[in-house]
Amino acid sequence: MTQELEALLELDRHDAAIREQTRKIEGLQRRRQALLDAIAREQHEFLAKKHAFEELQRQSREKSREVDDLDAQIRADTEKLRTGLLSYKEMEALRTRVEHSRVRIDQLEDEAIALITKVEEQAPLIAKAEKDFLAWKAKIDQDIAQIDAELAQHSRELERLQHERSQRTAAVARQLLQRYEELRARYEDPIVPVLGGVCSGCNLRVSEITAERVRYEIVTCENCSRLLYVK
Ligand SMILES: [Zn+2]
Repeated sequence: MTQELEALLELDRHDAAIREQTRKIEGLQRRRQALLDAIAREQHEFLAKKHAFEELQRQSREKSREVDDLDAQIRADTEKLRTGLLSYKEMEALRTRVEHSRVRIDQLEDEAIALITKVEEQAPLIAKAEKDFLAWKAKIDQDIAQIDAELAQHSRELERLQHERSQRTAAVARQLLQRYEELRARYEDPIVPVLGGVCSGCNLRVSEITAERVRYEIVTCENCSRLLYVK
């Protein structure tokens, strides 16, 4: 194997290592994003439940306040009936109002109790949902931290490989390097071996002349233009 070929294959292996690191980083970033998306989804779902519960609590408080207000009104009216200096007409009107209020307050109290019961039933469920969500999120956060550590490690390795690449390219003749770089833009494997007279890049048979020449130098595949060599 000529020195030139050796240097080029060395560069090709180096580029494969860079690709490998890049793939790993991309894979980790995709996983990281998927976990972030899952957290956002679960959080959204939990918050929707929590807000619905808070709304129920608000309705319950409001209903209880209505009961209290009406109760206060009935007491005031009753007191007025007992002590007030009212005309007969006013007394009748007030009595009717108290009667109506008593019917209404029974109804309101039933509604208030129904709401309080609902709140009491749902409170532990919401508390459990929150606890479960936070425990799950803590675990996912750990996974993300682990991914971040791996990402940092692979990024350092990629940086090192990219930095070292200039040493590899310096060992390859300028024209050959240029040809290699052009092919690299098109193929992941810009340089491939000829195996049994077949280019292992495009899997087509090379000409007899090429098959002969490749034994002594780096040549180009007539079909796919990849650089060819024999092992
Ligand atoms: Zn080919």
